[in-house]
Amino acid sequence: MPKPTSRPARASGRAASAPGLVSLVGAGPGDPGLITVRGLERLRRADVVIYDHLANPRLLDEAPPGAERIYVGKQAGRHALPQEEINRLLAKQAAGGRRVVRLKGGDPFVFGRGGEECLHLAEQHVPFEVVPGVTAAIAASAYAGIPVTHRGLTTSLALVTGHEEPGKEESTLPWQALAGGIGTIAFYMGVKTLPRIVEQLVAHGLAPDTPAAVIERGTLPGQRTAVGTLATLVETVARAGIRPPALTIVGRVVELRSRLAWFDARPLFGRRVLVTRSRTQASTLAERLEELGAEPVLFPTVRIEPPASWAALDRAVGRLAEFDWVVLSSANGVESLLARLRAAGKDARAFGGARIAAVGPGTAEALRAGGLAADLVPRDAVAESLAAALADDARAGKGFLLAQADRARPVLAEALGRAGGKVTRVVAYRIVLERGDRAAARKLIAGPLDALTFASSQTVRNFVQIVGLKAAREAARRGSVFSIGPITSATCRELGLSVAAEASEHTIPGLIATVLAAF
Ligand code: SAH
Repeated sequence: MPKPTSRPARASGRAASAPGLVSLVGAGPGDPGLITVRGLERLRRADVVIYDHLANPRLLDEAPPGAERIYVGKQAGRHALPQEEINRLLAKQAAGGRRVVRLKGGDPFVFGRGGEECLHLAEQHVPFEVVPGVTAAIAASAYAGIPVTHRGLTTSLALVTGHEEPGKEESTLPWQALAGGIGTIAFYMGVKTLPRIVEQLVAHGLAPDTPAAVIERGTLPGQRTAVGTLATLVETVARAGIRPPALTIVGRVVELRSRLAWFDARPLFGRRVLVTRSRTQASTLAERLEELGAEPVLFPTVRIEPPASWAALDRAVGRLAEFDWVVLSSANGVESLLARLRAAGKDARAFGGARIAAVGPGTAEALRAGGLAADLVPRDAVAESLAAALADDARAGKGFLLAQADRARPVLAEALGRAGGKVTRVVAYRIVLERGDRAAARKLIAGPLDALTFASSQTVRNFVQIVGLKAAREAARRGSVFSIGPITSATCRELGLSVAAEASEHTIPGLIATVLAAF
């Protein structure tokens, strides 16, 4: 991990004092997907990231593992680090040519004190740049189904701070102008001061029946929106228990929400769903759940690694055409086999007359992606069905290559062997337990949990092993367990996790459909 260099500030050599670059990057309002391409690129090559509490912590994962991460966040009334010290820190961290990313919620220049930071850097002759971000007023409104401007409803938009010095007698806000002529007004930092905001607007002539909304945690899975009019908003917000960060939108555009709400209208909105696939496999499941509005809780229980040695697989790849059947029981197996084929400078012709069996649609899809069509895919994507489908050929003494995980269940190899088949089993990849720290893993599942998804027996076992049996059962009681198929369900039950529903199609889309049907 690159530590800050301890070179003297005014070293005589030119290189030693050459300052790096400070990038003020807007992290966007919360949804990590709303950072800009440039912002993400800066984050990915950062030497140090200095961040606030509003920047989504998931974005920090994008910085290189060795990058230093410094939290300087502020929360209402509680300054983690005074602004002057943040300013100095930025300049100091840039010394020695380091690439500093100053990650800020929303846009750095919209109520983000980015201007002050830049002024200090300019004074110190430290090069800086600004990567704008999607500011909360625009983004939270958009996710609440409220266009901040709309033809025929409003011609102007004001971004206003609702946070004024407490006890200040005279308001410095231009209430007359706001109430008298702005179509849409967005108040930042105004939950506590909402009664005063409403009072001032009405006192300066805005009609009490003007539509208004408060959006809490906009663009995040926990987004909540309270809608009313200036006359009712304070009470509605109090009743809903809205808390910061939240944004107030005042104007006729708020009416559009009743027709345009989309984000919180998604079928799995607000559901926390545990995803326990391997780190590399989790993305499709998590992405799809997210599209459906769920908050995927990524619990990487296993990781796919190469076998201890490629020798056995390479030998098998060298004589593929000698087998009657090449049997693949996972997409990982396919990828591994094809990678070794390529490494040997060969292509699909190496299969010769060998036929190819895939345990299920996911495996068949991976074959297709590699330019190969499976000759056999059993109706149930389980090893038992595959064994049954191959039983006749096994009895005829045919040769089978099984490219599998190191921890694959032995059923297929045993069944084919017992029937008389000549079985060659090679390890195509290893399933490695994530050595997650138990406390961190428990914390991950400690919050509300609506569903737990398991896409293999192994992930069930690993999940239990990592969090412990008691915590696993407790989590399964709080949320519903969804399994990809009968074997995984059996493993769940064996470990005392009762299964709420099992996918009828034993694939990831099948698993998602089952979760969807349950909610
Ligand atoms: N620079 C930020 C604003 C920082 S001020 C930006 O451009 O968005 C902090 C205020 O922003 C909060 O008090 C709240 O009013 C608003 N805010 C930030 N993120 C928000 C979110 N996800 N949902 C609603 N309001 C948010």
